[in-house]
Amino acid sequence: MLKGKVAIVSGSTSGIGLGIAKVLASHGADIVLNGIGDAGEIETIRSGIEREHGVHALYDGADMSKGEAVRGLISATIEKLGRVDILVNNAGIQFTAPVEEFPAEKWDAILAINLSAAFHGIAAALPQMKKRGWGRIINIASAHGLVGSVHKVAYVAAKHGMVGLTKVVGLETAGTGITANAVCPGWVLTPLVEKQIADIAAREKISRQKAEMSLLGDKQPSRSFVTPEQLGGTVAFLCSPAADQITGTAISVDGAWTAQ
Ligand code: NAD
Repeated sequence: MLKGKVAIVSGSTSGIGLGIAKVLASHGADIVLNGIGDAGEIETIRSGIEREHGVHALYDGADMSKGEAVRGLISATIEKLGRVDILVNNAGIQFTAPVEEFPAEKWDAILAINLSAAFHGIAAALPQMKKRGWGRIINIASAHGLVGSVHKVAYVAAKHGMVGLTKVVGLETAGTGITANAVCPGWVLTPLVEKQIADIAAREKISRQKAEMSLLGDKQPSRSFVTPEQLGGTVAFLCSPAADQITGTAISVDGAWTAQ
C-alpha cells in the first residue's frame, strides 16, 4: 500500500513511534527513524526494519527540542530519499508536578518537543507534499489532548495545542490531497508510562502490578493498555485511501477514557 512513499516518524527509537515505524515499513514505506538512545541499539533497530520489510530505513538523530533541527530533519530526508510523504509527529516527553511547583525549564522543554516540533516539521514538509498532491500529517497527541489530569500542566497544554494545530493544518490543506489528523492514545505501556507506574508503586508502597491496575483503573475503562502495534494500525489506516476524507480531526484510541 505504501511502496514508494517515505515516512518520517519522530521519536521512533522506542515505544509508540517504533511501533508505528514498523507497521508503516510492513506496508512498504521507506522509513526515517529519529530519537535518542544507544547508537548500537538504534542500528540494530534500523537494520532489522530494512531486513524484515525490504525497505530503506535511515536514522537521523535531530533534536526535536530545536526548531532548526526539526526543519533540518525534513530537508535532510528530502536530500537523501527525495521526498517526505508521511510525517508522524510522535516525539514526546512527560513531567509531573503541581502547577505552582512546575519547573519553568520543564514547561519549555515539553512545549518545544511535544508541540513546537510538529509546527516546524509540518511547515517544512508541506510545500513538497503540495507539489505532489498527496501527503499525510499524523500528530500523536493523547487523551490529554482532549481532557486534563492533575499535575500535567505542560503535557496537557501541549497536547491540546497539538489538536488545535491539527485542525488548522486540516483546514489549510483541505482539497489538496493532504490530510492532517491527530491520534489520541490512552495509556500505552512504554518507557514514558513505566516511569509513572514506578512512581505510583513507590509513593503508595504497592507492587508494580497493583500500580499498573491503579493507573488503568483511574482512567481507562477497558482496563487494558493500548499497544504500539494498534497505534501503528491506526496510522496505517489514516494513510490508506479509505481515510482520504478524514482530516482536521482527532481519533481516540483510549479504551473509552474520554467517553466519560
Ligand atoms: P517513549 O519515551 O517510549 O518514546 C519517546 C520517543 O521520543 C523516544 O524515541 C525518545 O528518544 C524520543 N525523544 C524524546 N526527546 C526527544 C528529542 N529531544 N529529540 C528527538 N527525540 C526525542 O514514549 P511513548 O510513550 O512511546 O511516547 C510517544 C508519544 O506518544 C509521545 O508524544 C507521548 O506523549 C504520546 N503518548 C503516549 C502515551 C502513553 O501512554 N505511553 C499516551 C498518549 C500519548
